[in-house]
Amino acid sequence: MAVERTLSIIKPDATKRNLTGKINAKFEDAGLRIVAQKRIQLTPAQAGVFYEVHKERPFYGELCDFMASGPVVVQVLQGEGAIAKNREVMGATNPADAAPGTVRADFAESVGENSVHGSDAAETAAKEIAYFFSGLELVG
Ligand code: UDP
Ligand code: MG
Repeated sequence: MAVERTLSIIKPDATKRNLTGKINAKFEDAGLRIVAQKRIQLTPAQAGVFYEVHKERPFYGELCDFMASGPVVVQVLQGEGAIAKNREVMGATNPADAAPGTVRADFAESVGENSVHGSDAAETAAKEIAYFFSGLELVG
């Protein structure tokens, strides 16, 4: 399997509860390397551009407001099959369906406030990484 990079976001519900280190430990324990990371405050408009693919969904407005409700940690994870591996470590979108030991099973508060974002495919990963990071900031 090829070495990939994927975009991860530790969401406001998790930064608020001081869970950045515990979540990062799960990524690193799974063999994912954090090759770029920064803590930022999004505006609702910036969150809206990031989640544009969901703009017709009923939860879009709430999602954008939530993502702008506090700091987020945006990061690039690198490793063999990193996109799928990160999705495994994250667990299902709804924490009620997430496998034991996953980030969302252990930490998510609800289907909306579910602690982490992860890219879902190679094309979206490239686009999402470029939204937050320049090439100079990625140090594998
Ligand atoms: N979301 C929500 N209600 C839903 C489905 C999703 O609030 O019924 C939010 C949730 O924060 C989720 C994000 O929208 O993580 C993006 O949804 P997606 O289906 O892409 O899930 P993910 O890829 O994050 O697992
Ligand atoms: Mg998604």
